[in-house]
Amino acid sequence: DVSVNADEPMHTLTLEDMAALCVRALSKAGATQTVAEAVARSITHAERDGSTSHGFFRLSGFIASLQSGKVSGHAVPRLSRLGTSVLLCDAQNAPAPHALELAIPELIEITRECGVAALVMRNSAHFAALWPEVEMLADAGLVALACTTYLPAVVPFGAREKLFGTNPLAFAWPRAGKAPMVFDMATSARALGDVQIAAREGHRLEPGVGLTAAGDPTCDPNEVLAGCLLPFGGYKGAALSLMIELIAGALLGQKTSASTAESDNRDGGPPPRGELILAFDPEILSGGEWQAEAERLFGRLENQPGLRLPGARRHQNRASVTEVRVDPALLGAIRAYCES
Ligand code: NDP
Repeated sequence: DVSVNADEPMHTLTLEDMAALCVRALSKAGATQTVAEAVARSITHAERDGSTSHGFFRLSGFIASLQSGKVSGHAVPRLSRLGTSVLLCDAQNAPAPHALELAIPELIEITRECGVAALVMRNSAHFAALWPEVEMLADAGLVALACTTYLPAVVPFGAREKLFGTNPLAFAWPRAGKAPMVFDMATSARALGDVQIAAREGHRLEPGVGLTAAGDPTCDPNEVLAGCLLPFGGYKGAALSLMIELIAGALLGQKTSASTAESDNRDGGPPPRGELILAFDPEILSGGEWQAEAERLFGRLENQPGLRLPGARRHQNRASVTEVRVDPALLGAIRAYCES
């Protein structure tokens, strides 16, 4: 059992040590070296960038799902074409970071041929941030958009029942000689991971994040976990979340979040499901005239005092962070699991 509930001061760990510990724990839970390294990269890179809701904290969920068999640590994702510009990756219940590392290079090639291409990801266990996949595409000079469903955690605007996942949406725009402009956000008012961390650390949430099981507004993260999250931006965020249910679920021949819950074993890890990634080659779509106009807009934005571009915090962290703070109880539990 690697679940924890403690409020001791944090420990620090170098990124290398964290990656090695993740590989050790995931291998013990049944992952091959390749799968373990892909998940470890995803976790360590999230920590390095300051995205703690999808960092080390997620390791215990992966371990639980590898142990229960919900997630496969040795699956070989299968790539095939559904059409000239549509790549299918059936991840075979592998963790998403592993399937994505296999599929994205081929998606890049297809997008450069076709101008616009889609990756239809099926049966991939996504438990991470989405920026790595859109950044991989932006690093190849492409514009990218990705979204996935989850388990129901969000009550649609005007409803009383949790029917939507936290349904993240990520977008990346390449910039010559600079880090890409990337946004990556849950369509819930807060990512579920943030609420779980707030509950563990004893912090209150801001108003507007969630409701109690009885449907009353609350700032207590434990009450939100027992109740539900709200969509960001009221009915507008709910509409985006609904779109993601449809285009990352039904459109790909996959379940929506509410249906995923019906067959989930509730082991705390990620249920395999769909992800849609769209990629655009701006050279082809614009006729070669895309960078200057985009940079004019970025210049106007960057001239606004107090404004920062989405992704800037993460890219700044990336340039300087070599070690990260880790919950000591979680660290102890993972180390004990490795030695058990
Ligand atoms: P945040 O609310 O922290 O940030 C959302 C976006 O807004 C980021 O791109 C962030 O950039 C940007 N941003 C934040 N503050 C500002 C600001 N002041 N000015 C301009 N831009 C800003 O993210 P969420 O909590 O909504 O999501 C966290 C993660 O959860 C995401 O990575 C998402 O993919 C993941 N997730 C994964 C799920 C899954 O099933 N796998 C489910 C749900 C969420 P920056 O990073 O630079 O701060």
